[in-house]
Amino acid sequence: MDTNKHIYRKEIRLHGQVQGIGFRPFVFRLAEKFKLTGFVYNHTEGVIIEIQGNEKNINDFIDNLKNSNKENPLIKISTLQTQNINTIENEKSFEIKQSETTGSITAEVTADIATCKDCLRELFDKNDFRYRYPFINCTNCGPRYSIIKTIPYDRPNTTMAEFKMCDKCKQQYVDVTDRRFHAQPVACPVCGPKIYLCNNTGKIIEEDSDKVIARTVELLKDGKIAAIKGLGGYHLACDAENEQAVKTLRSRKMRDAKPFAMMAAIETIKSFAQVDQQSEKLLQSIESPIVLLNKKTPNTLTPSVAAGVNTFGFMLPFTPLHHLIFAMAEGKINALVMTSGNIADEPLICKDDIALSKLGKIADVFLMHNREIHRQVDDSVMHVVANAPALLRRSRGFVPQPIISQRSASAEIFAAGSDLKNTFCFVKNNRFIVSEHIGDMEDANVYKHWLNSIEHLKKLIDVNPKVVACDMHPNYPSSQYARKLKADKIIEVQHHWAHIASVLAENDTTETVIGLVADGTGYGTDDAIWGCECLIASLEKFERFGHLSYYPLAGGDLASKEAVRPLLGLAKKYNIVIPEKLLNQIEPDNTKRKIIEQQIEKNINVVQTSSLGRLFDAAAALIGLGNYNHFEAQIPMATESQADKNEKQTYSFNLVEQNNTFSIEIKGLIEGMIKDRLDNIDLKSICAKFHNTIAEFFFKLAEQARHKTGIKTVAISGGVFCNKFLSERLIERLQKNGFVVLCNRLMPANDGCISLGQAAIAAAKAI
Ligand code: ZN
Ligand code: ZN
Ligand code: FE
Repeated sequence: MDTNKHIYRKEIRLHGQVQGIGFRPFVFRLAEKFKLTGFVYNHTEGVIIEIQGNEKNINDFIDNLKNSNKENPLIKISTLQTQNINTIENEKSFEIKQSETTGSITAEVTADIATCKDCLRELFDKNDFRYRYPFINCTNCGPRYSIIKTIPYDRPNTTMAEFKMCDKCKQQYVDVTDRRFHAQPVACPVCGPKIYLCNNTGKIIEEDSDKVIARTVELLKDGKIAAIKGLGGYHLACDAENEQAVKTLRSRKMRDAKPFAMMAAIETIKSFAQVDQQSEKLLQSIESPIVLLNKKTPNTLTPSVAAGVNTFGFMLPFTPLHHLIFAMAEGKINALVMTSGNIADEPLICKDDIALSKLGKIADVFLMHNREIHRQVDDSVMHVVANAPALLRRSRGFVPQPIISQRSASAEIFAAGSDLKNTFCFVKNNRFIVSEHIGDMEDANVYKHWLNSIEHLKKLIDVNPKVVACDMHPNYPSSQYARKLKADKIIEVQHHWAHIASVLAENDTTETVIGLVADGTGYGTDDAIWGCECLIASLEKFERFGHLSYYPLAGGDLASKEAVRPLLGLAKKYNIVIPEKLLNQIEPDNTKRKIIEQQIEKNINVVQTSSLGRLFDAAAALIGLGNYNHFEAQIPMATESQADKNEKQTYSFNLVEQNNTFSIEIKGLIEGMIKDRLDNIDLKSICAKFHNTIAEFFFKLAEQARHKTGIKTVAISGGVFCNKFLSERLIERLQKNGFVVLCNRLMPANDGCISLGQAAIAAAKAI
C-alpha cells in the first residue's frame, strides 16, 4: 500500500520561545513547502499547530520544525508534543489563526536583536534598495522592546508610527512569504528614519547619510568624543588606541578608573584579547552582549581603557549604523570605546534633548537620528564561567524575554528587587519577566526611572499584581515602596535566600538545595549584615546552616569604600596586630585609624557582619592592591586579576559548630597573608591562596551540609561569584566530589538576580 496516498492529521503543541518572533509565518511557509493544510495559533503557554497531509510530508514538516532554530535563531523550542487527530474533509489551505486567548499578549513583546546576516548582506549590496541604509531590519533583527510604547505590538504603538511605509516596504510587510512580513520597524531610505550630525549645542552640521558617517569617523580619528545614538540609548565613543582621547573622556565623564566597554570587529578583537570558541559564539550571538575576555599582552589599546583588571569588555557592531561606521573606519580606527551615555551612576540617556543638555559637556559631536528610543536599554554584559556563558548585566537582547517555569502561579506577582544593580520582576502565569538593569537606587534619578519603568512594563505585559515581594531590609527604597502598595499579600524575603531562589527559578527546580552565597551585604533575620552564607533552602523555606564568623564593621556608607575599615574590624576580632609598616601603606593617617579603632571598641556606628565582599577589600589592602573602591568591587577585582591559576595552596581556617550553626573562623587566613606579605612572597601566589581558601571553606561547609542532610545539589549565587577565578575553583572542587552544582547563568549572580528570586518565592507561596 502506498502510504503517501493516505491522509493524516496531527496536532502539534510547542512550548518555549515560540511567540512574537515570526514563528507563525515560519510555520506557514513550512506548511506551504510541504503542501500541508491546517492552521497555527498562539496559545497561553505556547503554540498549537494542526497539519494535514501525507505521512512523509508531515514527518518532514516536523523535522524542519525541530530544526527551526537554524532558520531563525530567535526560536527556541523547549518541548514538542504530537498526537494523531481526526482528519478534516475538504480543507484547502493552511492559515494563521487569530489567538484564542489574551495570555499570548505577554509574549508579543520581544527583545532588541542585533542586525542579522541577511540584513547585513543587503546593507552592503549596491543593488539592494536599502544599500547603506542605517536602519535596515527584518523579522529576525532590529529594535523591539526599545521602541514599543504600548501593546499590542503594532507599528502605530511604536516610535515608528510617524514614518509612513512606502509601497516597496509595504509590499514586503504584507507578504507572508517575505522575511519582513509583519516586521513592525521595516523602513528604507525613502520612507524611514535618517541620521544627522550635530555639534554639542544641537546645530546640524551634516545631513547626508554617508557624509555623516565619514565625518564622525574623521573626528573620532582626530581624538574627538562622539555621542552616538544607538538601539537602546546613547553611547559615548572615542578611539580606544588614543590615550589623550580616553583620558579626556574619563575626566569629562568623571569616571576615574572603571573599565570602559569597547566595540570592534571580531578579527580585531582577537588581536587584543583571547577569544575562545565559547566567547566568540557569545560575541556573535543575536543578543550581541559585551563579553569579558582575557587581555593579550602586549596590545595597542591605551592602558587606561581598562586598568587594574585582566579583562577587556568587547562587543561587536550590533546595529546597521555601527556596521557602517566600522566599514568606514577600516584602516583608521581599530576599536572604539563605547561607554554608556550617562553621567556617573545616573540612568542611561536615550532622549535627544536630554542627551544634548547632559552630554553636551562631554561629547564634541553628536551622531543622532530621528527614530525615537522609547525605553533606554543598557548593553548586556556576559562572561564564560566553567565553560558556559553567564550574564553579569542583563538588558539589551534579553529583556523582556521571560524565564519560563513548568508551573503557573495562581496570582500575578510584582517583585521589587534589590537596592544595588536593581531589576524588578513580574510573574504572569508561568512566566517570570525580569526588567532590564535599572541601576543603584541611592541615586534619586535612578529611583525615579525605576518608578516609571515599573508602570511601563506593567502596561506592556498587561499585569495587575496582587501579590508583592520585596527585600526585608528596613530602609531599601524599593522595599519601602513595595510595603505601601495595595496588595493582598506582601512577602518580605531575606536577601540571600532570594539569591539562591533565583538559581532555583532559572533552573526551573523546586528541590531543596545547599545554597552557598558569596556576597557583599544583605539584611539578615538577626538584624546583622549577612554576606558569606550557607543556607539549606527551597522556594518554601530556608535555614541558615553556616556563615563567616561575624566581625565588626565601622562607618556606614564608607565601610564599602575604605578597605581599612573591614581590615581593622577583622584585626580586632582575631586580636591580630597588623604591622605598622603595612597599615601605613593602607591608611597613612594614624589619627583616622585611631578613630576607627575607637568606633569599633565603643560600638558606635558599627554593624556585625559576615560580608565576603568586605573581606576581599581587607585582603586587597593588606597585600597592597589598593585601599579604596572608586567603583563597586574595584580592589576585589584587582585581587582576582592577579591570582595565579597554578597556585593550589590554601591558608588555614576553622569551621566551628555552635547551636547547630557553623562559623567560619579565618584567623589563619589573615595571619597567613600578613606573613606571606612580610616574607615578600609573590603577589600572584598570595592572591590565588586567598581565593583558594574561600573556595575551600565553602566546599567544607557543603560537605558538612551534605553529611547532615543528605542533599547533594549545591546552588551558588551572590555578587562575589561574578569572580570567575573563585567560581571556577569552587565549582570544580564540588563537582569532583560528587555534588551537582547549579549557578546563575540567565541572570547575573549579583543583585540583578534578586527580583527573580523574590518572585519565585512569592510564586511558590501563591501556587
Ligand atoms: Zn534582519
Ligand atoms: Zn520604504
Ligand atoms: Fe546580594
